Amino acid sequence: MLKLRNTLSGLVEELQPLEGRRVRMYACGLTVYDYGHIGNFRTFVSVDLLRRYLKFQGFEITHVMNFTDVDDNTIDRAARERVSLRELTDRYIDVFLEDMRTLNLETPELMPRATDHIPEMLSLIERLLKRGYAYVSEGSVYFRVGAFPGYGKLSKINLEGNIAGARVDADKYDKDNARDFVLWKAPKREGEPGWETPWGRGRPGWHLECSAMSMRYLGETFDIHCGGVDLIFPHHENEIAQSECATGKPFVRFWYHTEFLQVEGEKMSKSLGNYLTLRDLVAKGFKPMAIRYALISVPYRRQLNFTFDGLRAAGKTLEGLLDFRRRLQEATCESGASPALTEAVARARAEFIEGMDDDLNTARALGAIHSLVRDANIAVAEGSLRAGDREALLEFLAEADQVLGVLGHEEGELLDSEIQDLIRERNQARGDRNFGRSDEIRILLAERGILLEDTKAGTRWRRK
Ligand code: AMP
Ligand code: ZN
Repeated sequence: MLKLRNTLSGLVEELQPLEGRRVRMYACGLTVYDYGHIGNFRTFVSVDLLRRYLKFQGFEITHVMNFTDVDDNTIDRAARERVSLRELTDRYIDVFLEDMRTLNLETPELMPRATDHIPEMLSLIERLLKRGYAYVSEGSVYFRVGAFPGYGKLSKINLEGNIAGARVDADKYDKDNARDFVLWKAPKREGEPGWETPWGRGRPGWHLECSAMSMRYLGETFDIHCGGVDLIFPHHENEIAQSECATGKPFVRFWYHTEFLQVEGEKMSKSLGNYLTLRDLVAKGFKPMAIRYALISVPYRRQLNFTFDGLRAAGKTLEGLLDFRRRLQEATCESGASPALTEAVARARAEFIEGMDDDLNTARALGAIHSLVRDANIAVAEGSLRAGDREALLEFLAEADQVLGVLGHEEGELLDSEIQDLIRERNQARGDRNFGRSDEIRILLAERGILLEDTKAGTRWRRK
């Protein structure tokens, strides 16, 4: 039985969905104004692991992950680049979807964008106004924090010293600034994106977006809400306040929060400037699956300190597993099965599942695989591996990888954008009469299953 730590209760609890075997879960998605960094991806990978393990346990999943495509950051960046908000966010949504494929993240059932859900947000605000939980001031609408006795139950914040009626307009702020927060914002600048409403033109606050999108697709009470620990306050605290005051029902049963990926003792973040994108790492030659392995190797409830040495070590460990599998696939062995290995596989499977049931303890689950590999390697060396053992071992690896997602992914597969970059480089080389380089690129692409055809209109490509 899967047990998860629930930030709301502070306890490790059994997960029992509201409705039969269907789990409804929501994950706060990326704010799409820039490339995602690997801190962001630590959280997305840990949500992917939760999703995959739930499926592995036979649950059906409705998983919603939004795109935050209107907030302080997206608006500022679009203004700075002099492009429309839509153009900017379209660009980074495409980048993110490609990064998801690179990291072998499964696609959630629904990926709504905030700007496509303005009517749902307005209707939430209307309900809050009608029930006296919100008020209008100078064209903005605020949530009256003092009217909700449950405020602080997730982050355990103490509201003493909070000044009644004092307000905060920013999307992100810290606990010292716990005040009435903004649901709907009047424009601050000329030309800011906005929507017409009964209380004036404006745009939604970030917190409101997630309440509106999650309840739209998952109902007014649902099972699991996910995000990084930095979202506990104020984002998730505010989501609870808005949603519960609008509906009068409990909003979410389980809150699943992933600890930080850190660099030298600090959170990796755009604002600190200490971040690496997934693409930075791939460009440095790290394999995406080594990155995924490194991200899952530390259980999501523990901080993960990012180092290049750690990443190289993860790459080696993964190589070892892939090698082991290759050797098994190629091994010829006599029929039958050795009782010791049959037992070792059964033990490893039980330990893998117990580890994952234990609040997704990936270190324990991976440990089970590695100790099985040690046992099997001894059997191979002694010549006691039998055909039945080989099948059982391969089957277990495939099963575990449904959850881990690090072995099955085709390492060699190039992304469309990488192919196009290489074709551009090849054309440049040909233009420079550097035929050595242009041949090299053609061969490299052919090895990865990409065929080129040079036509008058340019170079076309297809996968073999
Ligand atoms: P944002 O685009 O800032 O809303 O972040 C997207 C997701 O990444 C959120 O769930 C954040 O909590 C998470 N996140 C941001 N920085 C980190 C980090 N250093 N480690 C883990 N998760 C993070
Ligand atoms: Zn959110």
